[in-house]
Formats: sequence, structure tokens, C-alpha cells
Amino acid sequence: MKHIFPTYKRFPFEIVKGNGVTLTDNNGQQYLDLTSGIGVCNLGYNTTPIKNAVKAQLDKVWHTSNLYNSELQEKAASLLVKDEDKDVYFCNSGTEANEAALKLARKATGKSSILAFDHSFHGRSYGSLSMTGNEKIKEGFGPFVPDIKFAEYNAPDALTQITPELAAVILEVIQGEGGVVNGDPDWLEAVAAKCKEQKVLLIIDEVQTGMGRTGKLFAYQNYNLDPDIVTSAKGLANGIPVGAMIGKTELAAAFGPGSHGTTFGGNPLAMASATAVLNILNDDFLEAVQQKALFFWHYLEKEIQPLELVNGISGKGLMVGIHLKSDIEVGKVITSLHKQGILTLSSRDNTLRLLPPLIITGSELLRAVHVIKETLVNTVIGQ
Ligand SMILES: *Cc1c(COP(=O)(O)O)cnc(C)c1O
Repeated sequence: MKHIFPTYKRFPFEIVKGNGVTLTDNNGQQYLDLTSGIGVCNLGYNTTPIKNAVKAQLDKVWHTSNLYNSELQEKAASLLVKDEDKDVYFCNSGTEANEAALKLARKATGKSSILAFDHSFHGRSYGSLSMTGNEKIKEGFGPFVPDIKFAEYNAPDALTQITPELAAVILEVIQGEGGVVNGDPDWLEAVAAKCKEQKVLLIIDEVQTGMGRTGKLFAYQNYNLDPDIVTSAKGLANGIPVGAMIGKTELAAAFGPGSHGTTFGGNPLAMASATAVLNILNDDFLEAVQQKALFFWHYLEKEIQPLELVNGISGKGLMVGIHLKSDIEVGKVITSLHKQGILTLSSRDNTLRLLPPLIITGSELLRAVHVIKETLVNTVIGQ
């Protein structure tokens, strides 16, 4: 690719078609997808009810701006907040959702300090990147947004940094880009309790962990957490660009007319898709994801965990990190898996990351386990 900024190191094939959990490249090779387009196409590819909803909206109107009433936004928002006293701000990406959260937290509290965590990922714009705990991707872009502090994730010490001077704490319940690191449930609940006690807002970034990925609509619902602000994007419209910031209604006064905005955010196509997605992600569907995940984890623990080159497995639901020993390079494993017809992802610290579409079947998951096992063993032998 000659005329594209080289911000991505790309694999030399192109995906030209998708159906269910199967992708086809420009050479006609088929793949079992364990990436969901990085946690986006959680309901698979070419999914009939979503496709039909977007097509129907295409025939009506694609864009109108946020100057007019939008029942489409209201419908999607009501499915996101359910019966809770919360409001939604729609935008176009996870970055934008976190940017909105940062702005709302500052304006609503009248304070500026934010506490974020090491190895977090919240996006690439100045606000969201400033809250991201990854020096490598920040290199050369400073100075950053001021008053953003960092603490060690899962460390009891972090609790002492939650003081009334803070506007907000922002965290992921499972750090996705940071290496699929599970927040310790007791630590997460202690952070939430300390925030409440010190009158500090709690922002939970559910851009990757949300939309059924862990078997709940949002991962925080696996624990006793009551965030003031939740951000969503990736899986929310199954591939149509969208982001959402969901905040308690008591914060709404700080986001009055003219305070924040977006041209495309909440556009009709994204709302039609998000509504179709949220209608599918009902309790029965999520229960089925939990059952599939139990089955998957049984085989991951039985077949993959004991392998000599595996340090451990982390994650929850259908978000999985297989931590490889340093004598095997995750990039090589991913390339070997391409040859075996399986698409996977990496994450920090030599982690093989799996984010399969939630519609994947048990037998497909079992096939994935066997191919990954075989590939891990053969890659080491072949080195
Ligand atoms: C991907 C991601 C983002 C950024 O989302 P974009 O849509 O790429 O801007 C933010 N937070 C988390 C946890 C993510 O995984």
C-alpha cells in the first residue's frame, strides 16, 4: 500500500468476504475467525437481522445531524440503560467515548485530576491517549493533557491515590490491549467503594469488554460495581462505527446544549445497527455465551494450559489471553495459525489473544483449541 500512512504493520492478504464466523481472503483461503475484527463483529459477519436493519435504514435516510429529534437514538439508548437512571451520548469510536467521559467528569465535578492505570488503553486522541498507560504509543506526542496520574493496576497501593482532589478514576475491568489482565474482583470493588467514599467519579471503559464479550452486557456487571460513567464502542453496532458514553442522569446538567457535540455521532445507520445488536444481546443470548465460555475454558485449561510454552491463561467469557513463554514469539504463532485457517490477535507481553464472535459454536471452539495446541507444539519444534 503506497498511499496509506504506515501506522499499521499489515498481513499481506485481504479479507474480502465474511459469513457467520468464517472469513475469506483474496486468495480464496477461508479462516475461522477468533478476532471479531478486534472485538467488533461480536455477532459475526453478514448477520441477517443486523444487515436488514441497516439496509432498511439506508432506504430511508443516512444522515440528518444532531439538530433534530432522534427516536433512533432514544431507542438504542433505552436498550443500553435499561431501567437505570442514565443518559447516553453517542459518538463514533471508543476514543471519542472516553474523550466525552473525560470532559464530562471534569465539567460535572469542577475538578481536573484523573487517575488512570499502568498498561491501560483508552484511545489515541489527546485526552484518551493522555489517560493511556502505555509509554510506547505516547512516544514523541507530548506534552499531554495535564493532571492525569497513573497507579499500578490491581495494586492495593492504588487505593491510597484515590483522594477527594480527583475528578475521576478510569479503568478497564479486564485490560484488553494491556495483555488481557483481569482486574481482581476484590480490588475492583475496593476501588469503586473508595471512589464513592471520596466522591470521585468512577469511569469504566467497556469498549472491548462490553457487548456480551464476558457473558454480561457489560463486564462490570459480573461484579458489585456501580460506575458513574461507562464507555462503549467496538461491538456496539457490530462493525458500523459508533461509540457511546453512558452516564448517570445526575451528571446531565454539565452536558447541556452546546457543551459537547459531533457531526456523525448517533447517525441513523449506526443507531439502526446498534438497536439490532442490543435486541439480540438479551438475557437468553448472554446465558448461552456463558455456557459456551464454560465449555471453551474447560478445554483451554485441559489442552492449552499444561503446554510447556504456556505461562497461563487469563480473561473471562469469550475474551481470552494465552500467555506464551518468551522462547516462542506470538507473531510467529499468529502467522502459523493463518496457514491453519485460523485468525487470532496478539496483546502485550507475548499474549495470544482470542476474541471469537459470540455466535461461534462449541464444536468450532473445540476445533480452535486443537489447532492452537497443535500449532503451539509445532512452532516450537520448527524453531
Ligand atoms: C479499542 C479500545 C479503545 C479505543 O477505541 P477506538 O474505537 O479504536 O477509538 C478504547 N478503550 C479500549 C479498552 C479499547 O479496547
